[in-house]
Amino acid sequence: AKSQGKSRYCVFTYDMYQQAIKLLQLENDLKRAIERQEFIVYYQPIVSLSTGRISGFEALVRWQHPSLGMVSPVEFIPVAEETGLIASIDTWVLKTACRQLRNWQEQKVIDEDVSISVNLSVRLFSQPNLLEIIDQAWRKIQLNPQNLKLEITESAIMDNSEAAAVILQQLRKCQIQLSIDDFGTGYSSLSYLHRFPVNILKIDQSFINAVEPNPRNTGLISTIINLAHTSEMKAIAEGIETPEKLAQLRDLGCDFGQGYLFSKPLAAKSIVDLLASAPQW
Ligand code: C2E
Ligand code: CA
Ligand code: CA
Ligand code: CA
Repeated sequence: AKSQGKSRYCVFTYDMYQQAIKLLQLENDLKRAIERQEFIVYYQPIVSLSTGRISGFEALVRWQHPSLGMVSPVEFIPVAEETGLIASIDTWVLKTACRQLRNWQEQKVIDEDVSISVNLSVRLFSQPNLLEIIDQAWRKIQLNPQNLKLEITESAIMDNSEAAAVILQQLRKCQIQLSIDDFGTGYSSLSYLHRFPVNILKIDQSFINAVEPNPRNTGLISTIINLAHTSEMKAIAEGIETPEKLAQLRDLGCDFGQGYLFSKPLAAKSIVDLLASAPQW
């Protein structure tokens, strides 16, 4: 009990005070970050494990804060979700990523079938005008809807599953692909998979990067891949960092991979350089 008392005491340190101040500052600054053009979209390649070539990119937002420097989305996305600012951030990322894909197509640095994946928060997902937002970002740029993949978490579906059902059916009608992000870390129930038109399962990196790989962990990964395939879905492994992991996932029949082994998320300019080297793994 003594040691507990001691650690409780830490709650009131100067460090924590500064943390709280920082949070308030983030919240305030976040409100103006879009108009001040402080956000940047980075792109991380998604590789087809059968061809070893880049088949798409995930758009990941970055915040270049004027005094704090680069702020990780891990820090500001939760703040943005709490304040409701996430809807406008996600909308901005969606538009920016769509324009970028178009741009790369026009420059002929990518093939016509290369896709873009965009993260949608629960908040945006529960907006009644979501389809309008997507429509504006996507169709006006005249991209093939099959090249757009939306990544949502299991909780985004389950937290408002009736609204989600309607939205997801409409997305399916437009041929927009749907990925379940961080699969395996959310709900224990899989029943939503037969109710919703999910196309892709993204195996969470905690499975891929288990500190000590063991038969049980491999079994879990293999089960998710098989689940995807028996339900006419594809599987993506996130967080591939070593050639050994890549080889293992290929053996398990995983369709796509993403991770530092291939590339970290990069600014658009650096993606063009990467593509110029015609990478293949
Ligand atoms: P996520 O959607 O699961 O994205 C994957 C995260 O894993 C990214 O972190 C990526 O940089 C990182 N990653 C990729 N490969 C590796 C690897 O090999 N090893 C390790 N250790 N990490 C790897 P990032 O960019 O910091 O984003 C963190 C989270 O923030 C994302 O997780 C997503 O939940 C959220 N996020 C990022 N951009 C957006 C956005 O535009 N909208 C929304 N709503 N959320 C976003
Ligand atoms: Ca994601
Ligand atoms: Ca993920
Ligand atoms: Ca995540």
